Amino acid sequence: AYGPAPEGHAEALAWIAAHQGRFGHWIGGAFTAPAATFETRNPATGKVLAEVSQGSGEDVAAAVATARAAQGRWARIGGAGRARVLYALARLVQKHARLFAVLETMDNGKPIRESRDIDIPLVARHFYYHAGLAQLLDSEKPGFVPMGVCGAVIPWNFPLLMLAWKVAPALAAGNTVVLKPAEYTPLTALLFAEISREAGLPKGVLNIVTGDGDTGAAVVAHPGVDKIAFTGSTSVGRKIRTATAGSGKALTLELGGKSPYIVFDDADIDSAIEGLVDAIWFNGGQVCCAGSRLLVQEGIAERFHAKLKRRMDGLRMGDPLDKCIDVGAIVDPVQLETIKGLVAGTEGEVYHAACAVPEGCFYPPTLISGLHAASKLMQEEIFGPVLVSTTFRTPGEAVDLANNSRYGLAASIWTENVNLALDMAPKVKAGVVWVNSTNLFDAAAGFGGVRESGFGREGGWEGLMAYLKPAAKVKPLAAPKP
Ligand code: NAD
Repeated sequence: AYGPAPEGHAEALAWIAAHQGRFGHWIGGAFTAPAATFETRNPATGKVLAEVSQGSGEDVAAAVATARAAQGRWARIGGAGRARVLYALARLVQKHARLFAVLETMDNGKPIRESRDIDIPLVARHFYYHAGLAQLLDSEKPGFVPMGVCGAVIPWNFPLLMLAWKVAPALAAGNTVVLKPAEYTPLTALLFAEISREAGLPKGVLNIVTGDGDTGAAVVAHPGVDKIAFTGSTSVGRKIRTATAGSGKALTLELGGKSPYIVFDDADIDSAIEGLVDAIWFNGGQVCCAGSRLLVQEGIAERFHAKLKRRMDGLRMGDPLDKCIDVGAIVDPVQLETIKGLVAGTEGEVYHAACAVPEGCFYPPTLISGLHAASKLMQEEIFGPVLVSTTFRTPGEAVDLANNSRYGLAASIWTENVNLALDMAPKVKAGVVWVNSTNLFDAAAGFGGVRESGFGREGGWEGLMAYLKPAAKVKPLAAPKP
């Protein structure tokens, strides 16, 4: 028995119904007629939520042409003018926060507590922050101009937040955008597009073409796109790097991870356990920087695992729209099968949380221990609620194990010895190292990886500069004669 439907539920259903459950692309400030549609489902119920259009090469070309036509004017209104629209977008995201949160949860399967309290507030924060940067741009970076038309291809795990990470800096810098949302989770992007009209975003500045990987590939390949910003898997990132090689297009890649969560024997164990719940079971582990690889010091390993299992048993799984739920649905049955297959093939000791697992697209919080550092599941991103664990003896061994990965997105270090933490942090190869904490994000802090986790940063000035290029040098006029 679940509690009452969360605020925003009726509104979300009404919004879908107002579009007869069928959506075209958002090009030039309006929806195109739906064509060649495919279904997007609520993974928690398996029910179809809506039909969206499969973008063709022609759709992408139309979106790029529209974005190109709108770009000069958008750049010329200046940083302060663009800031006004970005502020309005931030305020409208807040105004419609409940609707966005419910729609996100229904399309993705993540707990409503997360979409309501984390995803959507972070989206608003991203637009507020970039409105601030846009205002500073003309005075702080006078030697820079926008890239032009930016192509953005994003994943399904934080659908609206990943849109914000791309769209806010691109628009702040004076670019126009063609965005391709993930095929599993297109709905909040389409709602955002509609709301952008209310914010006064000029037609053609933001265009959204829905579809699968072929549509994404068409955005990447289009010669009219000046910069590609991609977030997704390392394998697709590799394809995009190949596809753009030699094209002159600027590129940033935010890819996968297998982030270590290192617990020393002097750590505050209860805090480390709570942190770990957040690190690996936030969004069901479908998080690029999930602390998915537990490295625990030998002396406390047994006690730590026992406590962790008890905590896992207490996690609540179920309808993601229920406000009490800790772990929601897996985004799609295909992803569920991938997780099951990876766990079935392991030589480690598998522990599933004793919590009740609902029927359908759900997978229980899982711990796999006793794995060798080189084993497949210690190395491969599972992208599900599965934690793998091994032990270490010395800080040096912890560093070696942490760095024994092709990825380098994030790491967490837990110890009460600040000197140990400060000694360890720079030795761990990762884009971000959290000490006695995990999953801390802020619009002002550049986020991104090293190694096969990608390159480039999103957030802060660093992230904004990836959407600008140096202006052509103009010879200064001779000083007027007195
Ligand atoms: P994915 O790579 O399968 O898909 C991402 C996007 O790329 C989708 O929109 C998809 O349609 C599109 N795509 C697929 N093939 C393409 C091609 N050949 N050319 C262009 N576009 C193509 O990833 P996913 O399964 O949606 O997301 C999960 C992955 O994303 C995980 O590996 C995760 O770690 C990563 N991720 C990274 C970050 C980060 O900031 N580093 C953040 C979130 C997710």
